[in-house]
Amino acid sequence: MRVNTKLVSWDEIVDWSIHLADIIKKDGFKPDLIVAVARGGFVPARLLCDFLGIDNMLSIQSQHWTEAAKMEERAIIKFPYYIDAKNLKILVVDDIVDTGDTLKLAKIYIEENWKPLSVKTAALQWISPVAKFKPDYYYIEVKEWIWFQYPWTRLEDTYQFIKRMMMETFKETGKREWTYEEILRGFHEWYGIDVGEAYYKRAMEILVEKEIVEFDPDRKIYKLRVT
Ligand code: ADP
Repeated sequence: MRVNTKLVSWDEIVDWSIHLADIIKKDGFKPDLIVAVARGGFVPARLLCDFLGIDNMLSIQSQHWTEAAKMEERAIIKFPYYIDAKNLKILVVDDIVDTGDTLKLAKIYIEENWKPLSVKTAALQWISPVAKFKPDYYYIEVKEWIWFQYPWTRLEDTYQFIKRMMMETFKETGKREWTYEEILRGFHEWYGIDVGEAYYKRAMEILVEKEIVEFDPDRKIYKLRVT
């Protein structure tokens, strides 16, 4: 395996969210409003609404990561807006705290602009050795950096992973042409996970659409375009 990756199932997400909800309940924190950090925090936030019995949910979007396992320099709030939150206790939710920039930025943005009663933060996972920010609540402490392949980024991650594999292989060996079977085998070798046929098929369609690879239907070959 070249990239340390863990495939996360929908069932695990539900299980982790239930446990996270229990931790928040035990602490006695009952938020009036849950704010999902888009897009990664959406599913966990919605599940926390269910498990904590919360009706109010909003989202703010922060932008930081451009592609799977690659980092841009800083996080920004993409569509800033104002709500009157002076009587509200807010819980800000994300999927994972990796660098910590996103959740920290969201918390500061909400405190300074919405001026709520209080703001707490929660994430399913916290990568403790790299994060500059520790959420108030988390379920799993990750001790070694891994790319978690969450179910809501499965297609996006799959085509980015394939693109990366093809580009790096080209740089290392000059190989540009791949059969579909070679791509599947390479994917397993590089990432150690299997995302299923539905994803590989669509990932290849996207790479062709984006003109990153071209498909030769006669030879059934995918060829990396190099400029
Ligand atoms: P945070 O402020 O929560 O640490 P980051 O700025 O580190 O967030 O990352 C932003 C988003 O990128 C995360 O909410 C998540 O959706 C995605 N992400 C970051 N690191 C990982 C990882 N190791 N595995 C899967 N997704 C990740």
